[in-house]
Amino acid sequence: MTATGTRVLVLNSGSSSLKYQLLDMAGPQSDGGPAAGRLAVGLVERIGEETSRLVHTPLAAGGDKRETEGPIADHEAALKAVAAELSADGLGLDSPQLAAIGHRVVHGGLRFTEPTVIDDAVLKEIERLVPVAPLHNPANITGIRTARALRPDLPQVAVFDTAFHTTMPEYAARYALDVATADAHRIRRYGFHGTSHAYVSRKTAALLGKDPSEVNVIVLHLGNGASASAVAGGRCVDTSMGLTPLEGLVMGTRSGDIDPAVTFHLKRVAGMSEDEVDVLLNKKSGLIGLCGDNDMREIRRRIDEGDERAALAFDIYIHRLKKYIGAYSAVLGRVDAVAFTAGVGENAAPVREAAVAGLEEMGMAVDASLNAVRSDEPRLISPEYARVAVAVVPTDEELEIAQQTYALVSA
Ligand code: ADP
Repeated sequence: MTATGTRVLVLNSGSSSLKYQLLDMAGPQSDGGPAAGRLAVGLVERIGEETSRLVHTPLAAGGDKRETEGPIADHEAALKAVAAELSADGLGLDSPQLAAIGHRVVHGGLRFTEPTVIDDAVLKEIERLVPVAPLHNPANITGIRTARALRPDLPQVAVFDTAFHTTMPEYAARYALDVATADAHRIRRYGFHGTSHAYVSRKTAALLGKDPSEVNVIVLHLGNGASASAVAGGRCVDTSMGLTPLEGLVMGTRSGDIDPAVTFHLKRVAGMSEDEVDVLLNKKSGLIGLCGDNDMREIRRRIDEGDERAALAFDIYIHRLKKYIGAYSAVLGRVDAVAFTAGVGENAAPVREAAVAGLEEMGMAVDASLNAVRSDEPRLISPEYARVAVAVVPTDEELEIAQQTYALVSA
C-alpha cells in the first residue's frame, strides 16, 4: 500500500470523548520536538450529553483555540464536527494530503503484536476482545466504524496499547492460576500504555546516544493511570499492568496491586456487589481513596501545609514505585536507565527524588538541581557519577501512533 499524502489523523476514542491530532509526517521535524509537524489538535468531551464540548486548536494556521459547546449525540456526530473544524482550516478529511487515520486501540490481546491495517476481519477480531477490555475496546470500535464510514477509501490503522508487551516471556505474562481456567478465559497479563513505553524506551536510548538494542531501561509511566515496564534491548520483558489496567502501581484512582482476597472480603463481609467492588478499586482507590485528591500538585500542596493524610498517600505511592524499580532491576540484571514520563513523571520533581532516594547502592541517584529543571525535552537528572542514568523523557503517544501508522501505509 502506498500513501500519496503525508498527513496522519490520530484518533483516540474514549467512552464519552474523542481526542485527535493531525500530524504531517513529511520533513525532518516529524521526529523532533513536541510541536513536531502537528497541524491541529483537539478534543470532544461529554459526547452524548447536552453539554458536549469541542476544543480545537489549529496549530498550522497559528490560530487560537476554538471552543464550541452544545449537544453532540454520538461518536459519529463528534467526528463529523471535528471534520468540519479541520475543513475550516483547509485541513479537511477529504484532502488528498491525508494518508491514513491511526486509531489508538486499547486491547489487541495476543493476536495483534504490530500496528495493523484495519479491514472487516481485523475489526471482527478487535470486537472479539471486548470481553477482556469491556471498558475500552467498544469506544475504540465505535471510533473506527465512524471513521471508516466517513472515508471508506482511506487506510485506517489500529495501534494497540498491548502490542509492545507481547514480547513478555511466558513466565512473566502468565498468572500462577489453573492453566485450563486461565486459557479458557484468556486470563493473562497483557499490560497497557505500550505505545508510551515503546516511545519512551527508544527516546531514552537516543538520549544516551545508544541503539535501543544496547540498553536496558525501566520506564515509569506516571499519569493518572500509571505503569512500569522493564525493557531489555528494546523488548518489553515485564510490565506492571495485567489482564486489566488495575494491577501494579498506586494510581490516581486505582489501587494497583492488592491481595485478591480483599475482593472476597468486600463481597462476603462488607456486602458489596461485584460492580461496587469494581468501582471501588478502579475509581475510588489509589491516591483519591487514600487522601481525597488524585492530582499530584494538590497532594504536594497539602503536604507542604502539613497534611498527614496527603503525606501518607504520597509515601504509599512512592513505596510501591520503589518496589517496582527494585523488582525490575532484578528482572533486568543490569539497568542502564530509569525513565520518568507522563503527567506526574514529567512534572513532579518530588516524586522522582523520593522514588530514587536511598537507591545509591543500586547505582541510582538524582541531582537536585537537574531534577528541578522544567523542560519539554528529554533530559538526564542523575549526577555524573551515577552508574544508572535517571532521565525525564516526555511521552508522545500521538506521535508514536502517527509514525507507526505512516510507516505501515507508506511502506
Ligand atoms: P492521563 O493521560 O493518565 O490522564 P497524564 O499523563 O496527563 O494522565 O497525567 C495527569 C496527572 O499528572 C495529573 O492527575 C497530575 O497528578 C499530574 N500532573 C500534571 N501536571 C503536574 C505538575 N505540574 N506537577 C505535578 N503533577 C502534575
